[in-house]
Amino acid sequence: MKLLLLGPPCVGKGSVSRKLLKKFDIIHVGSGELLRAAYHLGYEYGKKAKEYVDKGELVPDEVMNGLMKERLSKDDCQKGFILDGYPRTPEQAKALEEMGIKLDKVINLVVDPEILANRILGRRSCKNCGEIYNLVTMPPEKEGTCDKCGSALMKRDDDVPDVIRHRCEVYKDKTARLNQYYRDIGLLIDVDADAMLDEVCERCIEAVK
Ligand SMILES: [Zn+2]
Repeated sequence: MKLLLLGPPCVGKGSVSRKLLKKFDIIHVGSGELLRAAYHLGYEYGKKAKEYVDKGELVPDEVMNGLMKERLSKDDCQKGFILDGYPRTPEQAKALEEMGIKLDKVINLVVDPEILANRILGRRSCKNCGEIYNLVTMPPEKEGTCDKCGSALMKRDDDVPDVIRHRCEVYKDKTARLNQYYRDIGLLIDVDADAMLDEVCERCIEAVK
């Protein structure tokens, strides 16, 4: 199972991804983690990538594609993976195909930005262990208490609704071409992510069948 997971900020991509990885027994390949780790892992393009990352510059396609090619040829990727953050453009998507990698599906998590803005008001995190909850989509078993360690939950005030609305706009602009590319070749499936986490995962599993 080779998947790409798309979705706006705060849609719960990380949580959905973790559940799907378990379900399909595949691994997560995130472009951000790869960029940070490639140099230390001795990747051929690792040194080049590090130069751009250290300067805070965008990593050019040639380097990004090279890194991904190397990563996806490793043994642990052979059973399948969920890509996250790559490809970002139709050009990178084509490069991926040229590596001989054919995605089974592209899951596009869709939620109205207004719903996302409201949802973040329900975000809570554990004071002690940092576990994240959401009163709307991922509530703890006991109100106000962390399932993992029993500590009190606190409100996360780092995300305000206006910031989320703006980030959704930016996200939409940045991913429009890629979405259209995958839509045109029939790989993209929209999954309504306005539901509890387990339900969203069920919808994703249904979508890739
Ligand atoms: Zn905790």
